[in-house]
Amino acid sequence: MPKVELITTAILLVWVAIVITLERIIPYRKGLPFFREGFWTDLVLYTFVQSFALKIIIFDYIIQPLDQHFGFSKLHFVTGWPIWGQVLFFVVTHDFYIYWFHRFQHSSPLFWRTHEAHHSGKQVDWLAGSRSHALEIIINQTIEFAPIILLGADPMVVPIKACIDAVWGIWIHCNIDVRSGRLQYFINGPEMHLWHHADHEEVFYANFSTKFAFWDWIFGTAYRPDHKPLKWGLPYAFPKDYFSQHVFSVARFDEAELAKRSRLFRAYHGIRGRLLTKLTDRVPALKPLHGWPVPEPYTETIPAQRPGGNFGAAPVATAPAETASSPSAALTR
Ligand SMILES: [Zn+2]
Ligand SMILES: [Zn+2]
Repeated sequence: MPKVELITTAILLVWVAIVITLERIIPYRKGLPFFREGFWTDLVLYTFVQSFALKIIIFDYIIQPLDQHFGFSKLHFVTGWPIWGQVLFFVVTHDFYIYWFHRFQHSSPLFWRTHEAHHSGKQVDWLAGSRSHALEIIINQTIEFAPIILLGADPMVVPIKACIDAVWGIWIHCNIDVRSGRLQYFINGPEMHLWHHADHEEVFYANFSTKFAFWDWIFGTAYRPDHKPLKWGLPYAFPKDYFSQHVFSVARFDEAELAKRSRLFRAYHGIRGRLLTKLTDRVPALKPLHGWPVPEPYTETIPAQRPGGNFGAAPVATAPAETASSPSAALTR
């Protein structure tokens, strides 16, 4: 592994250690298990397998042929710039693009299919940002890394930019109770992005920023209330399995129904659970690997409460009487 990649990997590992420690000490939502629902899917399939496979597709089968065909990198557009200047240029320009593409995904029914997986987790933490549809990654990372290579950037810019992406992605999704004050006008963090993952009608079209929060403030999509969300994830059932999540983006189906009807699907679908059960039966100390259920007091999307904030029709919330009367109790879950 080249030296710069060793350093960026080390930075990432240290960052993960810091964030998961802070998630335990000052959690945004109390009681979320470390091995939460979808943990293994996000870690093994999205973070390792998908990233590895798509990296080959994006760099070797899209960007390299493009460069060979057009020879842009020979133009050396940014080659003479200092490395920090190159990194800053690509971080800001890509972040501007991603704000608009993200906003477009939320308003286009077709492109929403490439983004809904990212919103499907009901327990959002440091790892939740990794859950992105393969096509979403191919589009966004091609548009991210092609200019870096085609404009003749230093080879170190790719791993540095990838490290910044990972560090910031972990940060905006982490379950840490951050109060960043005025910094939240500039640097995006969990304070606003965790709201983006809430199943509240008033944030369906808000908080699209990834790294720099100022895009939301400039373009009028910032939402930063002083309370926390009551409900998370999507307002409809979504498959829990990696491959089902991708099939679901093309053809809608009910994962639980299919598991009931098809023996083949049932065998495949339950494989992770069975493996974990086998393991934890033998070594009971490993039981936390299963995680544990977190109460979901609300079953419907929380309707918009800010004046004029009703974006389209959403189902009316039907909260259990006791939790509805004490929202603060639900906040601390
Ligand atoms: Zn989104
Ligand atoms: Zn997110």
